[in-house]
Amino acid sequence: MAELNSGMPRPTILVVEDEAPLLTLLRYNLEKQGFQVDEAADGQEALMRVAEAPPDLVLLDWMLPAMSGLEVCRQLRRRHDTRGLPIIMVTARTEDQDAVRALDTGADDYIAKPFVMEALLARIRALLRRSGGVATKGTLAWQDVTMDQDAHRVSRGGRPLHLGPTEYRLLEFFLQHPGRVFSREQLLDAVWGRDIHVEPRTVDVHIRRLRKAVNGEGEVDIIRTVRSAGYALDLEHA
Ligand code: CA
Repeated sequence: MAELNSGMPRPTILVVEDEAPLLTLLRYNLEKQGFQVDEAADGQEALMRVAEAPPDLVLLDWMLPAMSGLEVCRQLRRRHDTRGLPIIMVTARTEDQDAVRALDTGADDYIAKPFVMEALLARIRALLRRSGGVATKGTLAWQDVTMDQDAHRVSRGGRPLHLGPTEYRLLEFFLQHPGRVFSREQLLDAVWGRDIHVEPRTVDVHIRRLRKAVNGEGEVDIIRTVRSAGYALDLEHA
């Protein structure tokens, strides 16, 4: 099992869950893995906790009393300071539609109840890995897109872009290999990691979000879709 780097400060996970026994179980397992755990039993409390003490990741139950997890996610994504906050949505059902809705609302990943604790922990570690912390450093640039890896800032034509952690890692990977076509599976390996299972269609959702974030009004699409092959950082030739 991958260990957290002992030299790093312990990441804080905000667990938003209204079922007390599950909350207790999650706290126990997360603390055992070296995480700090903060908790909220409903959506309002979750938004308050995030404002008071921003966590490194939010584990957000979909089914909450009053405000749904989906609405919490939407509100966090609307606010400038929490737009890039890593969020894993816990869905009660396993229908694909729910997963896509969770991702479309801005969650970075999702897991369906009932879940195996190890699978959840792997997803948390993978998302924390892609949301930064680890030193890469330097500046990547291609066409009018610039990524400052130290400051974690991305801009296009001087206009600052606001990317979620997964979109950031995707763009970072593309910027490291401009022009090269990657299959969904290759992107999953590179960005999500090999140790977790993610549906290839998840890549499409994040590519859509990346496009929305980087392609401004009247700007050329910088992500090229290569039918039945995958995606590349490349200009679509008209
Ligand atoms: Ca619930």
